[in-house]
Amino acid sequence: FMVYYQPKADIRSGRISGMEALMRWNRKGLEIVSPSEFIPLAEDTGAIYTLGEWVMEEACKKLMGFNRISGQDLSLSVNLSVKQFSQEDLVPKIRQILEKTGLDGRLLTIEITENIVISDIDRTIRILKELSAMGIGISIDDFGTGYSSLSYLKKMPLAELKIDKSFVDDLPQDPESCAIVNTVIALARNLSLKTVAEGVETRSQLDFLKETGCDEIQGYYYCRPVSASEIESFLLEEKSL
Ligand code: C2E
Ligand code: MG
Ligand code: MG
Repeated sequence: FMVYYQPKADIRSGRISGMEALMRWNRKGLEIVSPSEFIPLAEDTGAIYTLGEWVMEEACKKLMGFNRISGQDLSLSVNLSVKQFSQEDLVPKIRQILEKTGLDGRLLTIEITENIVISDIDRTIRILKELSAMGIGISIDDFGTGYSSLSYLKKMPLAELKIDKSFVDDLPQDPESCAIVNTVIALARNLSLKTVAEGVETRSQLDFLKETGCDEIQGYYYCRPVSASEIESFLLEEKSL
């Protein structure tokens, strides 16, 4: 297993703002397997607990090195699945990783999906508050694709909404996608949350998002997910949008 990193860029400055850790399964002699394929399997077998912990520790450790290279305090986003979130000792495990790696909690963001909210709202809020007290940012991944109600937005200590790729795909030609993205950005702004658009592949998508007031983008237009050594070269290049 390997961790790939996909940078995020700040739309206003055009510069890198952080990166997301994305798991890869490199099977010897075979093609690299995508997490959408093996994560459901890892969840069924319970392997996701060890794997998830490993990804977080590995990426936190690497981020310290990446930040030495870039000379900036770039942030790291790590995905947590519903199953991982249901772990009893999630908070102490994350605290342990921060202590072990020496990473400042303020540089870590945890990406969860709306489905986490549905399972047990009181427990979810309690855990998110504990993480938030450690400086960790909470982001809602694939925002707008789940089945939850909006009321959780005011109860949870959130920092960020990630606009799902399915809404970004048809920008700016599809009026419905434009309306949804516009509304999500306005909603986030009114709640003082940052917005990140994912899956941005074209200049015209970027232009629309810039005009609409989106804060950050992530996608092939800026950079694909790459290995740790490739991200080091990317940081040295200081590529801007
Ligand atoms: P996600 O967190 O929503 O990540 C975004 C996915 O979109 C990634 O797929 C990324 O490679 C892909 N992507 C980014 N920009 C573009 C673009 O411009 N065009 C296109 N076509 N795709 C783009 P990936 O890496 O295959 O990951 C899929 C999902 O697997 C992730 O969705 C996340 O939910 C999950 N995942 C990945 N790593 C982990 C992990 O360490 N733990 C857990 N629990 N889930 C993970
Ligand atoms: Mg994500
Ligand atoms: Mg996503």
